[in-house]
Amino acid sequence: MAEPPAPDVPAAVAGVFDDFLGTTKTTRGADLRVDLQLTFDEAVEGCVREVAVMRATPCAPCKGTGFAPERPVSACPECAGTGRISREQGQLLIQQTCPRCTGRAKVGTACATCAGQGVQRKTESTTVTVPAGVEDGFSIRLAEKGDRFEGGPPGHLYVVLEVTPHARFTRRGNDLVVDVRIAPALAAAGGPLTVPLLHGQREVTVPAGAKPGDELVVRGAGVPVLGAPVTPVPGPSEAASPYRELDTSGRGNLIVRLRIDKGGPGAWLRWLFRLDER
Ligand SMILES: [Zn+2]
Ligand SMILES: [Zn+2]
Repeated sequence: MAEPPAPDVPAAVAGVFDDFLGTTKTTRGADLRVDLQLTFDEAVEGCVREVAVMRATPCAPCKGTGFAPERPVSACPECAGTGRISREQGQLLIQQTCPRCTGRAKVGTACATCAGQGVQRKTESTTVTVPAGVEDGFSIRLAEKGDRFEGGPPGHLYVVLEVTPHARFTRRGNDLVVDVRIAPALAAAGGPLTVPLLHGQREVTVPAGAKPGDELVVRGAGVPVLGAPVTPVPGPSEAASPYRELDTSGRGNLIVRLRIDKGGPGAWLRWLFRLDER
């Protein structure tokens, strides 16, 4: 879990003043980022997860002002209550945020709860609905789940997905790819072959004279197309042959890449421990 980025300016000060135009504006909360580790399966099928995020909200006792409640607050003498100071440098008029009041235009006793920052940071749990078909590196934006400062719109939370590779399957876009080792006799004569799906298995037909690297396609047994209505993987009776056309609008295909066993003394051991399948 990544720590949210630390603000580089006091939260209550960030963006309060537009230094160029000299106009006040509200403070939009900072965007936050959190990493979320997903299994291969969760990315393919979608899931609902919780993420813990450290988020800023306006300090309750001081209502986000940063000043101790029920203590006097007065206009900043340094900037005459404008929050900004100007000085001439040659022909230039330099304007900057008042260092004494840090742009707040007021001075007073700092709020003890937030140490004058105007915000409190709390770790909160947020539910993330991960749609089916996402990939490693994708991010999900949760609108207005970022930092919130007094008087301004909240920032957003970006959940960056990290997908753990699968032991057997890889992805090629919305297609799932799996290597399956077959005996030389099956490759030569062709015949039925049971292949793994992400969940369950399926029988396909190896054509006679198959060569290493040949690919068989199980239509509709791949990854749901992101954003499309999720369709179930067709049942075994619907896809007994890889050559049968199916409605694949909602999912990619399963690509079975044939590898042909060369035999020899190590072959049964490799089969026993499925070494070639990892
Ligand atoms: Zn000032
Ligand atoms: Zn406070």
